[in-house]
Amino acid sequence: MGSRAAESRTNDGVLSASSSSEKQGKAIAVVGAQWGDEGKGKIIDSLAHTTDFVVRFQGGANAGHTINNSYGRFALHLLPSGVFYPKVINVLGPGVALNVRALLKEHQMLLDRGVPAPQLAVSDKAQVVLPHHILLDAYQEEGVAGRAFGSTKQGISPFYSAKYAKKGIRVGVLFDEKLLREEVEQSLHIPNILFSEVYKKPTLDAEEIVQDLLEQREMLRPFVTDTTQLLLSGIDDGKTILLEGQLGTLRDPDHGIYPYSTSSSTLAGFATVGAGIPPRAIQRVIAVVKAYSSKVGDGPFVAGIADPEEAQKLRLMGGDKGEFGATTGRPRDVGYFDAVATRYGVRVQGATEIALTNLDVLGYLPQIPLCVGYKVDGKVTSEFPSAHLLYDAEPVFETVEGWQSGKEEMQSIREFSKLPPQAQAYVEKIEELCGVPVTMVSVGPGRDDIIFR
Ligand code: GDP
Repeated sequence: MGSRAAESRTNDGVLSASSSSEKQGKAIAVVGAQWGDEGKGKIIDSLAHTTDFVVRFQGGANAGHTINNSYGRFALHLLPSGVFYPKVINVLGPGVALNVRALLKEHQMLLDRGVPAPQLAVSDKAQVVLPHHILLDAYQEEGVAGRAFGSTKQGISPFYSAKYAKKGIRVGVLFDEKLLREEVEQSLHIPNILFSEVYKKPTLDAEEIVQDLLEQREMLRPFVTDTTQLLLSGIDDGKTILLEGQLGTLRDPDHGIYPYSTSSSTLAGFATVGAGIPPRAIQRVIAVVKAYSSKVGDGPFVAGIADPEEAQKLRLMGGDKGEFGATTGRPRDVGYFDAVATRYGVRVQGATEIALTNLDVLGYLPQIPLCVGYKVDGKVTSEFPSAHLLYDAEPVFETVEGWQSGKEEMQSIREFSKLPPQAQAYVEKIEELCGVPVTMVSVGPGRDDIIFR
């Protein structure tokens, strides 16, 4: 798969069909291999000029993608990152946690800032985030004092709990007022008991929620469609689909650092479910990987930099404006590249290739440490342990030569061979440690700050 995928890529990032005899369209997953914030939005914005669809398949407005292009700097939370290309259809699939007002606000923000109206398609099977989900999130996080899980309080965990308990409200049901009223009443039954009996808070009124949802429905109406049919027809017609992951492998509820995980699967394997396309349609899996480590929120972070001053240097140097959460503004924890976690992240994603981002950031370091092993129970391993073993794991570092070039200098480079030799060696080292080719190297936050290999 890897070599076939590599052959299918031209050296300017054009997402061409994998073989001329193939009539079927194809899907390419662009997913995070670490803790999230790897730069997926930037990579999609750099690639989306030749795709037909960009699809969000999981998560909600609880994390953000930062994008820098000719229209300005944007932090997108719910909109797919293809919205800057008017010909791209941006899909919110059934797997998404849809906060309707947040979506519409973001859409309006784009128009206000001079972005041409994007094409947007919202699945009638997607479910909506309800006011009680958001309140439950806040009350639950307050109630677990001392062991909070870093919730962004956007209602995401109660939303998915309700969805799998079959108490969710699908977008399609917004158009059937009678059914909507019944389902909202059912959805409120247990939350209202929790509010009054457990949390000692006011209860919510079903009718108020219904009226609010009916108002939201009217604003959402132009975008609602059966996106499953849309994408299946797209595949039949030979179209290209970019599947946009939110967060990364280490936030996956099954394979990540549970319980410091998110509530929907962040894996390319789930993309087929959350978007509604056949698994065989996915021909490439691009794991987006940052050249160092960053994580927002709580939970063990083996390769995190313990020294506050050393950490602050990397934090301020990182990303486009320092390592601070795009949604929350929270300072992110930072560390050097963690090959144990990233190799695992890449493998669990089934990555055919890596897009390495933020290479320009590390130029301030004369020597660059890389975490190449974890010491667990007195033994050094390069395999990522199950999450419950991480609390006592210690990092094992190796150091390589830095290249000591300023960010601006690095950001102007467009050919791999023009990178300083130590930077080339660093990329090759990551390739070797992860076992997957690095086909793209991002050297700056802008759309064009990218080297295709
Ligand atoms: P996402 O959620 O995976 O899209 O990542 P975020 O947008 O949350 O965080 C990535 C950060 O890195 C943002 O600040 C981006 O602007 C920034 N970024 C992406 N690629 C590069 C790069 O190659 N160099 C620099 N300096 N910043 C980058």
